[in-house]
Amino acid sequence: MTGPAPARAEIVVDLAAIRHNVRILRDLVRADEPVRLMVVVKADGYGHGMVEAAAAARDAGADWIGVATIDEALALRAAGDRGPLLCWLSAPGDDFAGAVAAGVDLTAYTVAELDEIAAVGGAHVQLKVDTGLSRGGAPRADWASFFAAAAAHEAAGRVRVTGIWSHFVASDEPAHPMNDAQEAAFREALALAEEAGLEPEVAHLANSAAAILRPSSHFDLVRCGIAAYGLDPAPGATPRLGLRPAMTARARLVMSKPLAAGDGVSYGHTWVADHDTSVGLVPAGYGDGVPRAAGNAASVWVEDSRRPIRGRVCMDQVVVDLHGELPPPGTEVVLFGPGDRGEPTAQDWAEAVDTISYEVVTRLGGRFVRRYIDTETDSDVDSDDQTSEEGTR
Ligand SMILES: *Cc1c(COP(=O)(O)O)cnc(C)c1O
Repeated sequence: MTGPAPARAEIVVDLAAIRHNVRILRDLVRADEPVRLMVVVKADGYGHGMVEAAAAARDAGADWIGVATIDEALALRAAGDRGPLLCWLSAPGDDFAGAVAAGVDLTAYTVAELDEIAAVGGAHVQLKVDTGLSRGGAPRADWASFFAAAAAHEAAGRVRVTGIWSHFVASDEPAHPMNDAQEAAFREALALAEEAGLEPEVAHLANSAAAILRPSSHFDLVRCGIAAYGLDPAPGATPRLGLRPAMTARARLVMSKPLAAGDGVSYGHTWVADHDTSVGLVPAGYGDGVPRAAGNAASVWVEDSRRPIRGRVCMDQVVVDLHGELPPPGTEVVLFGPGDRGEPTAQDWAEAVDTISYEVVTRLGGRFVRRYIDTETDSDVDSDDQTSEEGTR
């Protein structure tokens, strides 16, 4: 069989894995109460593709989609997304009118922002309160005046306040004292909002880690990002839920060659072989989002073994130790994947380079070609001649 040659380096996203994870999260939060699920697809769906991730999430029953910016929300609408959609990061002069026309719920952090949104007329707006993260949201001292301003705009018919929400500091550390403190502060904010006469449809506080680890924080809605992509929001603390990583990063070996004891590898010779071995050239580097810190730290998967990266990661390529073997050019290299075959996971890479899996998957891009598979509907998706849907990038 001949088809187009497989890509030099590609990000393969399994849409069935995203749907599977979304169903798990939805069932988890709906177990006792009718809590709704928002799936967060900001930053190009954490590197998985915003439009495709949102469609898979809606298919699997996500009630809301969440993004950071108005531009992201409008891009989703332009791609045909319908249904409840919230964004939460705007600056003065942003296209609030476009968002309102597209039926996107906006978030306000300040009275000034609320006024700018109200001037459009007919906006659905959610109010973000800062319960301790000291990032976006109205600080506690402003809650009463913030809610009063929102109630006045609502009474005048200029906006509809659809939600009140906040965001955790340390939900990935279940014993962190800020979790209790923020939940208590959020309840105070809700009581103040009620006093101001606001009746939002949804109050929400939890991200993935809190959705999984802290049922008391569920309120009406949880906002899950990382868990929808199958990655662990709180490594070491999360119970086994059967989440499945949706992203596999793979490349085709460019060459392999023997390396003699005493030979150094890559810029600066930060690694020198202490015995005869062989090395392989993998055509992806920091220009493609492969962390430079992975030099002498992370591993890839070639021919059923983990192969350590030797020396520095370059802009376009990395060198891996092939332990004396000389696989032919074109041999599959898996940088990370679900881990089923023993290959490293995004979590393994995160630990190797001292970051979080969020950053590993979100930053990968550059010249990687993204391709979508669906392991629920495709007949043959695990071989090298995958010819299902072509990705976009
Ligand atoms: C990114 C983000 C989320 C999702 O967080 P995860 O830890 O990926 O579940 C939720 N809420 C807000 C406000 C965010 O910015």
